[in-house]
Amino acid sequence: MAKENLKFHQLALVPTHDSLPEFNPHELPEGLDEGLEICSLCHGTGMEIVRGKGARQCECRRMKSYDKLLKAARIPRRYANCEFEGYQKKNLSQGRAFQLSFDLANHYPKVERGLLFMGSVGVGKTHLATSILRLLIEKGATCLFYEFGSLLKEIQSSYSTISQTSEFRVLEPIFDAEVLVLDELGASKPTDWVRDTMMHIINTRYNDKKLTIFTTNYLDARRRDGEETLEDRIGTRLRSRLYEMCQTLIIDGEDYRKNFDKSAKTKS
Ligand SMILES: [Zn+2]
Repeated sequence: MAKENLKFHQLALVPTHDSLPEFNPHELPEGLDEGLEICSLCHGTGMEIVRGKGARQCECRRMKSYDKLLKAARIPRRYANCEFEGYQKKNLSQGRAFQLSFDLANHYPKVERGLLFMGSVGVGKTHLATSILRLLIEKGATCLFYEFGSLLKEIQSSYSTISQTSEFRVLEPIFDAEVLVLDELGASKPTDWVRDTMMHIINTRYNDKKLTIFTTNYLDARRRDGEETLEDRIGTRLRSRLYEMCQTLIIDGEDYRKNFDKSAKTKS
């Protein structure tokens, strides 16, 4: 009998419903739909009662929305485990890129400009871009990862089906995502169509004040004859738009020095 009374006392500590955090009853059936075992903390209600403090959103709901956002971000499997913790800062440029990426993720949404990571393969551009996304997803932001080439392919194949409507279906999430990572900018053959399409996408996000993070293997400076710059690949208009939208970060790395930068070789 004493035990029963104790139970009632505990429940009485729950504050009146005015002081409870916002709670959406429409979310209730969701947990039931999935037929998973019922959470032992909230018994499927989504609200966890903290003794003496009141109620808060249950961890199971927070995990669920995190998983949902992570899935929706479409981060490729090979980058699935890229987080800030695992990033190796082997030189100054990598240390600086790490710090600016980390700052951006922490200050979001109070961030005006995105980032443009430049550097050769294997210096960790995509690792940092993905790490930013993961932290923002933890903050509840809708994020999306797209590799430049496969985005263009998806748009192109949408043309061959039912045109306009399907093109919008491909582009809608690109426009809607609060934060977009566009990986390997300039990797596709720079036709007029590619340039126009990219300009359309990037301008739309720019006008909507949405944050975009780019990575590219191309640099602004031509290091040797015949080497293409980013501007060669994406056009002057788009390159100058990126200056407005993003802070440029050049990341050096082992591969890069070995192959292209003779001055670094003579120094070492
Ligand atoms: Zn729960």
